[in-house]
Amino acid sequence: MKIIDGKRISAEIKDELREKVAAYKAEGVEITLAVIQVGNDPASSVYVGNKKKACEYIGIRSLAYELPEETAEAELLALIENLNERADVNGILVQLPLPKHIDEEKVLNTISPLKDVDGFHPMNVGALCIGKEGFVSCTPAGIIELLKRSDVEIAGKECVVIGRSNIVGKPMALLLLRENGTVTITHSKTKDLKEVCSRADILVVAIGRPKMITADYVKEGAVVIDVGIHRGEGNKLCGDVDYDQVAPKCSAITPVPGGVGPMTIAMLMKNCVESIQLQK
Ligand code: NDP
Repeated sequence: MKIIDGKRISAEIKDELREKVAAYKAEGVEITLAVIQVGNDPASSVYVGNKKKACEYIGIRSLAYELPEETAEAELLALIENLNERADVNGILVQLPLPKHIDEEKVLNTISPLKDVDGFHPMNVGALCIGKEGFVSCTPAGIIELLKRSDVEIAGKECVVIGRSNIVGKPMALLLLRENGTVTITHSKTKDLKEVCSRADILVVAIGRPKMITADYVKEGAVVIDVGIHRGEGNKLCGDVDYDQVAPKCSAITPVPGGVGPMTIAMLMKNCVESIQLQK
């Protein structure tokens, strides 16, 4: 059984990006990411801090907009529109969740699709759907990198995705399809989930329920990707997969922490670097 090391692979990607950014800089091209946070939710502050650190490491300039909780929706939209116009800003990221008085969908739809490095804009989701170039949601894009860099063949394989959220499950299924997997999407209304999952050569689990996937969901020799992240007993992190039970049955598995988690920021950085080409 192989443990897929997301920490190592994400470090590898960040180093490759650092070299690309240095090459751009040598040609006089600088990449800039604008990060907007509204309010001071502690978890969001940690995520924003990690994104800034990653930018620093790779050589991307980051502009931080820390707006108070009571910021009006119109004010936020005006800031985004201004950043959309600025030629010196390549990527725009609004940290979620937003305060309740702000319409999240409206905000995400205001970000220019050409600067939407999170890949949440309907134009980018649509582009993925019809196989065109665009930004792809970072967590599922990171999972494809994990599979490829761990020499897991996707073409022709039975791939089962548990979860159909717009940011993980759905784009994940589309990406596996793009890689020529035979894809099944499951959700809370799926009948006999165990039977469907136990057909999978590649099982991607994005449910949001700690340790729900036990050994009886998994085929001998399957590759299991665990997207879930929870604080369990004794503050210990765990995923949606019962790792101790499932790992011995797998040919490869991602741990939590150190699996999918570190890939999300690496792919955000990749989207920022690739924005230069898209914007051309
Ligand atoms: P959502 O809550 O948006 O989606 C969960 C999905 O799981 C839904 O489609 C839901 O079905 C399905 N589901 C829920 N219960 C069951 C069940 N009993 N059987 C089958 N399907 C079920 O979550 P996200 O997609 O945003 O995130 C999933 C997990 O991944 C979370 O733990 C989250 O914290 C983690 N995450 C981790 C990231 C990382 O970087 N590592 C990034 C993003 C998320 P239905 O649609 O029918 O309700």
